[in-house]
Amino acid sequence: MANPLFDQLFGRHAGQTTPFLHLPDGSTLTHADYLAMAARYANAFSQLGLTPGDRLALQVEKSPQALAVYAAAVQAGVVFLPLNTGYTAAELAYFIENSGARLVVCDPDAAERLRPIASASGAQLQTLDAHGGGTLSDLAATQPDSFETVARSADDLAAFLYTSGTTGRSKGAMLTQTNLLSNAETLVDYWRFTERDVLLHALPIFHTHGLFVATNTILLSGGSMIFLPKFDLDAVIAQLPHATTMMGVPTFYTRLLGDAHFTKELVRHMRLFVSGSAPLLADTHVQFEERTDHRILERYGMTETNMNTSNPYDGVRRAGTVGLPLPGVELKVTDPATGKALADGEIGQIEVRGPNVFKGYWQMPEKTREELRADGFFITGDLGLIDDQGYVQIVGRNKDLIISGGYNIYPKEIESVLDEQPGVLESAVVGVPHPDFGETVVGFLVAENGQAPDLSAIEVAVGAELARFKHPRKLIMLPELPRNTMGKVQKNVLRLEYGGLFA
Ligand code: ATP
Ligand code: MG
Repeated sequence: MANPLFDQLFGRHAGQTTPFLHLPDGSTLTHADYLAMAARYANAFSQLGLTPGDRLALQVEKSPQALAVYAAAVQAGVVFLPLNTGYTAAELAYFIENSGARLVVCDPDAAERLRPIASASGAQLQTLDAHGGGTLSDLAATQPDSFETVARSADDLAAFLYTSGTTGRSKGAMLTQTNLLSNAETLVDYWRFTERDVLLHALPIFHTHGLFVATNTILLSGGSMIFLPKFDLDAVIAQLPHATTMMGVPTFYTRLLGDAHFTKELVRHMRLFVSGSAPLLADTHVQFEERTDHRILERYGMTETNMNTSNPYDGVRRAGTVGLPLPGVELKVTDPATGKALADGEIGQIEVRGPNVFKGYWQMPEKTREELRADGFFITGDLGLIDDQGYVQIVGRNKDLIISGGYNIYPKEIESVLDEQPGVLESAVVGVPHPDFGETVVGFLVAENGQAPDLSAIEVAVGAELARFKHPRKLIMLPELPRNTMGKVQKNVLRLEYGGLFA
């Protein structure tokens, strides 16, 4: 009986002593060892009474065992629901209750706090620590190292991934076997992954980037990963000579550039650097090429859809763009008011359709109807345009658009000007209510270390570059921007806190 996702990603490696994970202690976990470990966890799930379709919520540190729990869930037909390790017990209560998880796996340190929350929802609790120990592993250790794969169809749910909660409360995206598999197939092909690849993996595995983009691509291609517990600059620099590829969020690249040990020689042999999850500053792209001769390949995706667009492998990788729609993905830019497609070059909402697009939000039928059209197009919530070369450019989120005196204002345009000013490290521009204009522009600035930017000089500079209606009414210095646990700037927090400025 078939289980397409298991068979394609995991089952294909049965009995193979090829390397899968290179670990910090210098050891290597082979595909066969990894599958045996997964089978023991799958047997443990049966012992615990889990049945196909049950949800398994997991909030644990990154470890080979945690990654084996992912394979075990797919093999047992259990829906895998990884959770950000940054979430507090109060936040977890929502996810556990909302998902109806039957089993909660957490770090032993969190067990006491989570036990009442789990039992309130009728879920069992097991532990897994950063070194792979814990009650779940104790149980697995007594189990056989083979497991009869549970049959699943392409349309069955494989995972539930909660969105990062940048614009509001996280939503549970229901992802099917096909959603995950189709995207992995596309990425292996598009980014030319083979069994010779060694991916430097320093991303978390509770998010689509580290779990599906990185891990599924490597599993499908038969390559291996240097599996680091987190992004540690020295460890990454030490491991780069052994890697062929790396995937990262933009801060990985800015931090590497900030270290003098990150040199052209160090990465001369690498074939690919991929960036995503947040916008890569054009400046970082340029500096990276100057330092290494490599052009970072930026791509664009989200929890609900996996990857949608990518800069080309062979063609031009253009800074400030997220590239072209991936094969099999249709992308259009539409007028938010009418839903009609706009001409190239016009800014509107980005919509995508393809086998990668999720089934809907868990227990949120209204939200699903609002964002997932009957014809299959998903309204991403991002605003952007298709430029004259067919490349997609993202200008920001629909919810962050500012409408002032009837004019549409895109925060990114103003932020780009602010970021360039002397002494400014980064900025965020939001709209706040204004009695005359409906909304008006406020700019938040974070100073570079030890600097004190001259706000009136910045106002003059902005005045020279941008039309009057875009000028921030107020510039406010902050020690840092509010960010969620994925490191994304939370503009809703700024809007809430400063909403009364002009009231
Ligand atoms: P929530 O939906 O809960 O508000 P979120 O949208 O941040 O949170 P994710 O699914 O983790 O949750 O992130 C997807 C979003 O990240 C995209 O919609 C887009 O705004 C942003 N993003 C991803 N890749 C890029 C990129 N290369 N450039 C710019 N933005 C990107
Ligand atoms: Mg989102």
